[in-house]
Amino acid sequence: MINLAATFLLAFVRRIKRGGVIINEHTLTKAQTRFHVTVLSRWFDFIRLTDLPYRWAQPTQRPFCLLTFDDGKRSNFTETAPELERLRVPAVFYVTTEPVTTGSCQWFDKREQLVKAIGRCPAGLDLQSLKQLPFDLLMKRLEKACADYNFKPGDESDDLRPMSWEEVRSLNRRGFTIGAHGLTHAILTREKRKRAFAEIEESLAKATLEVGAPCTTFAFPNGNYNTELVWHAVRCGASTLMTTDPGWVDERAALWRLPRVQLFGSASRARIESKIALAAFKRILANPNGSGRRERHGAEGEARGAIPRVVPVPRMSR
Ligand SMILES: [Zn+2]
Repeated sequence: MINLAATFLLAFVRRIKRGGVIINEHTLTKAQTRFHVTVLSRWFDFIRLTDLPYRWAQPTQRPFCLLTFDDGKRSNFTETAPELERLRVPAVFYVTTEPVTTGSCQWFDKREQLVKAIGRCPAGLDLQSLKQLPFDLLMKRLEKACADYNFKPGDESDDLRPMSWEEVRSLNRRGFTIGAHGLTHAILTREKRKRAFAEIEESLAKATLEVGAPCTTFAFPNGNYNTELVWHAVRCGASTLMTTDPGWVDERAALWRLPRVQLFGSASRARIESKIALAAFKRILANPNGSGRRERHGAEGEARGAIPRVVPVPRMSR
């Protein structure tokens, strides 16, 4: 019954909406990758990032779907990419550059491991509280908690370990697009301007250097952004910017503030279909960046409602 309702709703939305959707995933097993692709391919044509402006300008009968994966976990390389390759489905992988360089897992995975190991969340270590902090303070609090509980985070699992740069290069050689996702996965709107700008600039530069081709796409960590950050990313050479604003990509969207619908590996067919359908309507899905359902666009601070409608985004080359 729920399956039927979700299918009916998405069929209805597909009739009334133009454009398509950008999906935001993180880690998927091979079987989950296959399942997500099977469900999505019933409704959408998969496209590459470089196809986006063309598909947008010339809508076709079937809406498009662009798959994106954030964080650069090693399972993207070992599980997801081989399956996508087999199914001939393109994708963009957004990597957090410092963990790829150092090989250590990201702050939210260290926290998750600590919580699991001690069986509860220590005071002040709930995700919502941590996400209010600048990165240095967040790490200090997290490291102190790990020391207090004599806990050393591991990174044996490919869902925790980052890919290596050689693996990132291999994905790029095989036709996948590589994007930048910050240096440290700091939440940029919590940082001082200089630090936030460096997170954008240096992660784009590092990805460009390591991959050996210009990195021109950036995904805001946790989806938090404002006008200043958008402009800076564009100045640093990003021609597409990914947010977590839930929505469809239609003629009202902008390349510098692209909405994405977030899915998780365990999602059922009904969950995938209903979430994508509901993303077509305002104020139904909450923005995962913490701005809730109030705003269609989750820009923060001075940016709310003030982002210019036209930003000089460089032309994309195919
Ligand atoms: Zn992320």
